[in-house]
Amino acid sequence: MAKLRKDDLKDIHYHLSFNIPIHKETDIAGEEDIIFHRKSTSDVVIDFKAKESQIKEITTNGKKVMFLFKNEHIIIASDKLKQGKNIVHISFIAGNKSLNRNEDYLYTLFVPERARTTFPCFDQPDMKAIFTLKLETPATWKSVSNTYSLKETKIKDQKVVLFAETKPLPTYLFSFVTGKFEKKSCTRNGRLVNAYYRETDSAKVAQLGTIFNEVFSSIHWLEEYTAMPYPFAKYDLIILPGFQFGGMEHAGAILYNDKRMFLSDHSTPDEELGRMELIAHETAHMWFGDLVTMKWFNDVWTKEVFANYLAAKITEKQFPDINHKLNFLKAYQMFALAEDRTEGTHPIQQQLDNLQNAGLLYGNIIYDKAPVMMRKLEQQMGSDAFKQGLQKYLKKYTFDNATWDDLIDILDKENPQANLKEFSEVWVKQKGMPEISVKVENHSLIISQHDLLGRGINWKQRFSVGLVYNDSMKSVDINMQEQSVSISLEALPSYIIPNYDGMGYGKFIVDSVSTSYQLNNWMNIKEDITRQSVLMNIYESYLSHRVSAESCSNALLKGISIEKNCTDSIGSLRLFIFCLF
Ligand SMILES: [Zn+2]
Repeated sequence: MAKLRKDDLKDIHYHLSFNIPIHKETDIAGEEDIIFHRKSTSDVVIDFKAKESQIKEITTNGKKVMFLFKNEHIIIASDKLKQGKNIVHISFIAGNKSLNRNEDYLYTLFVPERARTTFPCFDQPDMKAIFTLKLETPATWKSVSNTYSLKETKIKDQKVVLFAETKPLPTYLFSFVTGKFEKKSCTRNGRLVNAYYRETDSAKVAQLGTIFNEVFSSIHWLEEYTAMPYPFAKYDLIILPGFQFGGMEHAGAILYNDKRMFLSDHSTPDEELGRMELIAHETAHMWFGDLVTMKWFNDVWTKEVFANYLAAKITEKQFPDINHKLNFLKAYQMFALAEDRTEGTHPIQQQLDNLQNAGLLYGNIIYDKAPVMMRKLEQQMGSDAFKQGLQKYLKKYTFDNATWDDLIDILDKENPQANLKEFSEVWVKQKGMPEISVKVENHSLIISQHDLLGRGINWKQRFSVGLVYNDSMKSVDINMQEQSVSISLEALPSYIIPNYDGMGYGKFIVDSVSTSYQLNNWMNIKEDITRQSVLMNIYESYLSHRVSAESCSNALLKGISIEKNCTDSIGSLRLFIFCLF
């Protein structure tokens, strides 16, 4: 149905109007014109996940019509419509499910397919439309939507706000917020950013200065990186108490969770880093997700991985004292491996037959393995080619939709030697990870990979191997493009550290002498990343019974007292030792 409808209907506009009463229990009356061009002569199906009684009247091209209401769909028979341009007018009572109505404010949250619970629409991400909105609210309320308000009129205790036309948006990014809010604005280089909030603690509100700085620096970085100006009419932040996510990237009207924005007096560096990452993440969505949107929710991960990946790049510059590579290993790689070594793991890209199940796709693989894959993709093709490819992708699909394969097509042309199609086939469309054995044989370092699920596939990736000699340590870069790599060695090392720079993804296997070396010496390794990687390797060896629980826990206890990254590394170490017992 989604495919047929997408092919059939073009140039979609919604003119929406809602009358918001002061009491949250009172119904919200809605009116809308849905305007579209229709190609075929088949019936038109409009989504509305509500009761039939909420539909008051429907007219098509000015004439009142009968309609069928079935399985959350309003079906308008073909003979009630014309080929070409049609105007369907619907009077309805808005469903409350996605309106988050509170005592003196409300906000919409339509992701992934919940716009249909509030108003009748074509609720699928590839049917982008232009929206205009009229809100009637109590006179003291402030309203925000995706674009500027064109006109505000007060009539007694009512206010009518008319918003300018949006750029083409998918239904899940259309949004409005209205209620009692404070507002602060900041203008830099001709760009105005507004923050709406309900916070009353002046010390917290004073943090808006930092928040504005982080918004402006994120926009600036993204405009440079993408070579494309900020794509929407404005940038507003609406900071909401008890918001269900960290943020939501409604084009031009981004919702943020107040606890993540307004930090306590004793905020930790991690919380401050988290706020910057969140702002950078939501801002990156304005290009990746909002300007170019996935065709279908099976590619929902592309917008999330881009937002996380670019947010990490933006944040790195702002927090130069933090070891971001170590954080990446701990935040993403460890969790990705934890899921990927289980039998229930799945590929990054999954099939999604019905949009209703879109929420089920989110999990460790999307949140944690997809960024690992993205880092490998950039490494595989080179940073400059990666950036140029992304710029071309944004240009080609501006205000349109694209799939992951569309992106790979573009990136592939930037560096044909990188074999990105093969790369994507394995990393994105297949599940699991390789087992990588690293050994020294006949004066050569031999690294070979093996598909644990027996499909015979190869994971293209780069990482380094550490060679430990009596009085020195050396790292060797490995470019793994095939099943095995062999590098001749001048001198034979005493021990091997398999994933020296932590860039390798998989289950690493080394000889038993090198494993003992890791157990006895992990705490003396100076490089934080290598130490973390070795600990992950010890854990992997324990899971595959190559190291006993006892020798593993003894080794960990031996080093725990001198480990300097005490906050979370040790936290997880303690937990790990506890689990062994
Ligand atoms: Zn996101």
